This record gives sequence, C-alpha cells and structure tokens, in this order.
Amino acid sequence: MRLIVLGLLLVGTLWLIRQALRDRRRQGGGQGRAEGGAEAHLVPCAVCHTFIPRDGAITLKDGAETRHFCSERCASVFRDEH
Ligand SMILES: [Zn+2]
Repeated sequence: MRLIVLGLLLVGTLWLIRQALRDRRRQGGGQGRAEGGAEAHLVPCAVCHTFIPRDGAITLKDGAETRHFCSERCASVFRDEH
C-alpha cells in the first residue's frame, strides 16, 4: 500500500517538473513576443532594455515614435544622447 502512495507521489512530482520545464522553454522561445495576461503589456526600456509594464513606464516622444523607459534616470540618459 505504501509503495502505491510513493509511486503516485513520484509521478506527481515528475509531472510538476515537466510542466515547469515546459513553461520555462515557452518563455525563452517567445522572447519579445509576449502572449496573454500582463506579459502582453511589457515594453523594453530604450536605454537598458529592461522589460517594464507599459502602464508603469516613463514615455518620451521621439519624433513619430514613443520611447519607453524603466526609470527617470534612463529617460534623462536618452535625452542627453538625442
Ligand atoms: Zn532603463
């Protein structure tokens, strides 16, 4: 009886590990192409390329384009360079 319980635990653990690995692989492959949920609103900082939620990003108009920044510091670096 105890063996059956141990076996089920083992199968469950292996299943969880497989799910975790699959999730990680999906995230790595779909870089830059966010899918669903909050990830869809992530934008890269134009200076340090850190991904930040678009709602929380600092934005600057650069001609026709809008640039996103993770912090005021990165925004000022961009301003100095352009
Ligand atoms: Zn930045």
